[in-house]
Amino acid sequence: MYDIIIIGGGVVGALCAEALSKYDAKILLLEASYDLAAGATGANSGIVHAGFDAKTGSLKAKFNVRGAELMPALCKRLGAGYKNNGSLVIGFSGDEEQLAELYARGVENGVKELALLGKEELHKIEPNVSPDAVAALYAPTAGIVCPYSLAIAAAGVAMDNGTELEYNCRVTGIEKTEKGYKVGCENGKFFETKYIINCAGLHSDDIAALVGDTSFTVTPRRGEYILLDRTQGGTVSHTVFVCPSAMGKGILVSPTFDGNLILGPTSENVTDKEDKKTTYEGLQKVLEGARRSVPGVRAAAITSFTGLRAVGSTGDFIIRKSADNFLTFAGIESPGLSSAPALAEYAEQTLLSDGAVSKKKDCYKTERRPAKFMSELSFDEKNEYIKKDPAYGRIVCRCEEVTEGEIRDALINNPPAKTLDAVKRRVRAGMGRCQGGFCSPVVIGMIADRLGIPYERVEKCGEGSYITTGRTKGDVK
Ligand SMILES: Cc1cc2nc3c(=O)[nH]c(=O)nc-3n(C[C@H](O)[C@H](O)[C@H](O)COP(=O)(O)OP(=O)(O)OC[C@H]3O[C@@H](n4cnc5c(N)ncnc54)[C@H](O)[C@@H]3O)c2cc1C
Repeated sequence: MYDIIIIGGGVVGALCAEALSKYDAKILLLEASYDLAAGATGANSGIVHAGFDAKTGSLKAKFNVRGAELMPALCKRLGAGYKNNGSLVIGFSGDEEQLAELYARGVENGVKELALLGKEELHKIEPNVSPDAVAALYAPTAGIVCPYSLAIAAAGVAMDNGTELEYNCRVTGIEKTEKGYKVGCENGKFFETKYIINCAGLHSDDIAALVGDTSFTVTPRRGEYILLDRTQGGTVSHTVFVCPSAMGKGILVSPTFDGNLILGPTSENVTDKEDKKTTYEGLQKVLEGARRSVPGVRAAAITSFTGLRAVGSTGDFIIRKSADNFLTFAGIESPGLSSAPALAEYAEQTLLSDGAVSKKKDCYKTERRPAKFMSELSFDEKNEYIKKDPAYGRIVCRCEEVTEGEIRDALINNPPAKTLDAVKRRVRAGMGRCQGGFCSPVVIGMIADRLGIPYERVEKCGEGSYITTGRTKGDVK
């Protein structure tokens, strides 16, 4: 019997697990996919919004401002990257009134240091924005993070503190029992628990419905992106937005935490919760939108992808008790990443007041070694590592300079990587310009050895996503 089951290993579920793992409680994190951050957390803009966009008094505003406040120290503690680069909403002729409204709303929401800039000031701090931009709302407190690294780091600390994690465990049934709930998964496994936290993203309505809460729905809104090569990462230093509309914050141009340039997202309501394709039309829209704000953006794409926003039927975050001892986080669309630390804080307070957790463990971990990559170390520091273990001297991914030692660590450390994409998300092998063309064969071999499976059974990103079908030369046994 578990004390708590958390359904969904996105940034919200992972941070809830981390926050609760310091208590004397048996916790299980259930994730439907092959890795953490398989939903919106794995495909978004990575912006820690300052908090001026959400309607004053809304849950989005409240949790965004608090989350953005907590984010820098949280990332430092978890060894996940955070950069305070500031954001700009640029305005063209006629947008001045909307900028002033955003400024006033931000002040009311409690966002600090906001400033309205004129044309000259704007072009001084961000010279590559369009010469047609006449003003801007400047939010110095905004930042950028690597969202999936944050979720992985949080789950890692939770697991180091004893939290269990099951990948490929899609929850399909929940039954009320005398002592709590019986949770059944698609793969036939089931688990008993006293308390459930529903963090299932786009499927949080389906999970709530399993205990009779049909008071809301969650629908997908697609957003397509283009990710540019690191050579373009310095095109702008701030996150550059345009004025928002009813469909979202518009197409942004921003450096990513890892030094690439990200363009997007589009905004399109769809019905299929798995519709992650990219389209020619969508990517054209992204490029056009990005060039409207920053005309010099080059089409030096290394990849494109789609994220699905979990749009709740109330227009706000939906945070409620779906049943006794059953806390639901639903409709956690943008600014959900920015809000996640505050949502986890809320979950901790709620479970404390419900008596689901009380006493802290005598000994627990709160920190994680920063994700220091070999490529970022000095020559002397690299030598120290290599002297202790020569695997840190053998480069496997040439684009990102990732070593065999780092890949091996990603396969062993909590939460362990079991697929090619899971390795990529932890250590960036395959994330560079050649997108894994050179390193994948070696990484596949290392995964096969670690899992004790044939080379052909190694997956890219979950069930059946095999990369090779068999050998073309030599021994076929
Ligand atoms: C295009 C786009 C851009 C965005 N940009 C930003 C931004 O810049 N800043 C910001 O603050 N926010 C942004 N967001 C919002 C942010 O990404 C989300 O709010 C956040 O990632 C939500 O995290 P989550 O854990 O609630 O959901 P998710 O990350 O979707 O995680 C839910 C998890 O639950 C799992 N799951 C689903 N069903 C089941 C089941 N039945 N059993 C077990 N597991 C299940 C899924 O596989 C998934 O891993 C953006 C979102 C999108 C899509």
